[in-house]
Amino acid sequence: MSPPPSPPSNTAPSPPSNTAPSAVETAAAVRAGTRSARQTVEQHLEAIARRESDIHAFNTVLADEARAAADAVDHKVAMGQDPGPLAGVTVALKDNMCTRGIPTTCSSKILEGWRPPYDATVVERIVRAGGIVVGKTNLDEFAMGSSTENSAFGPTRNPHDVTKVPGGSSGGSAAAVAAGFASLAIGSDTGGSIRQPAALCGVVGMKPTYGLVSRYGLIAFASSLDQIGPFAATVADAALLLEVIAGHDPLDTTSIPESGPRLVDQLSQGVDGLRVGVVQELMNGVDADVAARVNEAADALSAAGAKVDTASVPAAIYGLSAYYLIAPAEASSNLARYDGVRYGLRVPGDDITSTYMRTRAAGFGAEVKRRIMLGTYALSAGYYDAYYGQAQRVRTLIIRDFTAAYEHFDVLLSPTSPTTAFAFGAKSENPLAMYLSDVCTIPSNLAGHPAISVPFGAGDDGLPVGVQVMAPALGEPVMFRAAAALERGAPGSSSAATAAGR
Ligand code: GLN
Repeated sequence: MSPPPSPPSNTAPSPPSNTAPSAVETAAAVRAGTRSARQTVEQHLEAIARRESDIHAFNTVLADEARAAADAVDHKVAMGQDPGPLAGVTVALKDNMCTRGIPTTCSSKILEGWRPPYDATVVERIVRAGGIVVGKTNLDEFAMGSSTENSAFGPTRNPHDVTKVPGGSSGGSAAAVAAGFASLAIGSDTGGSIRQPAALCGVVGMKPTYGLVSRYGLIAFASSLDQIGPFAATVADAALLLEVIAGHDPLDTTSIPESGPRLVDQLSQGVDGLRVGVVQELMNGVDADVAARVNEAADALSAAGAKVDTASVPAAIYGLSAYYLIAPAEASSNLARYDGVRYGLRVPGDDITSTYMRTRAAGFGAEVKRRIMLGTYALSAGYYDAYYGQAQRVRTLIIRDFTAAYEHFDVLLSPTSPTTAFAFGAKSENPLAMYLSDVCTIPSNLAGHPAISVPFGAGDDGLPVGVQVMAPALGEPVMFRAAAALERGAPGSSSAATAAGR
């Protein structure tokens, strides 16, 4: 039986983590020796013990490892050393990031029993900065989906309403932050998999510029689109985590050969004179309550001094169609390596071909099989140019239209998701309806541009709404400034309350 619906309200529902100190505050206190990393970890482990059986954010909780890592951080502080900018801050990792000796499943049966021999670069950087990994989070199998219902290990539930999906594919990471299981989380975003679950769970989620964060040790889905990025309860916390994970890595050939941007310092700069465009094409077809919040977000930026106008990115309407050729095509190639020989599951057959077939039939779920078939078809001789080639041309048009829009605007605004969190099963029988969840987020992936989702009030159902801020390549500094201003202007925020004289 489902619980009674929450009363309609346009103020943000408060996630339990609102009372917890932010990542920025925790790191400062641990570095100063006024709070221990161990105490921080114990609080998060308690929150996990209380609610994880209802939420299922994690595939693996690393309690002992987290305690040991926290003690090592506290020891450094006691010795007068600086553990780093994430000192004692808990981080949850999407379970498609490699962790040495720790199961890494992509929420797929096909990786059963596999333990990577190395850590992903993001994991190394987080640990080196004093961050504490508390667990590996649930996802749609191989990051294909928008609800986390495609996990081979069962869905994650939305901490705001456990009858609703958390979004996906990084649903476990979004839910972990929203439920206060970790201060920060890492996700991957190929078509919206960080931003859409962030919106549905009422947290901040951000996809960096393509190439800004190393993907070494991220299990590939669609290599020309995949990016790793942060989840956090606040914009400042997301900026802190991005500063730690961004910057050149020789182990990833697509990594931009520069150090990462400085972000945290700039958040208070404000948006006076900033040119903000609301993308008209991405307002079509979204729910009225979501569209209303985006318009209020534009008003909040305008009140903070920005110059707001309507913007147009005409080719964005073809983004979804192009994505569902490019992403499956690349996935069909990337997933060819799971053959029962090199990794995880093996279902033996009479010969090598039947071993391949039995392993892949048993190991992959329905959505992954659908994508492999779509992608293989789109790449096959005689169809390649009509499908894959055409989709690549659309991608060029989208980049061209964004470039034109950014001649007039510093950042662009849109909904993150066309709806708030939906009920389990509502879209699982209809792949197209599910794919539409990413209609607003996909264009930035196709262009390689950064984009962030910031919680901004609630829908008619009382569930969180996310507003997306987009920027041109390497426009993270200006994008974070706009995001911070949105956060200050959001309904229910302490600054908004002060501004409204409440
Ligand atoms: N929901 C989209 C898909 O199913 C995006 C996934 C992602 O960003 N990893 O492909």
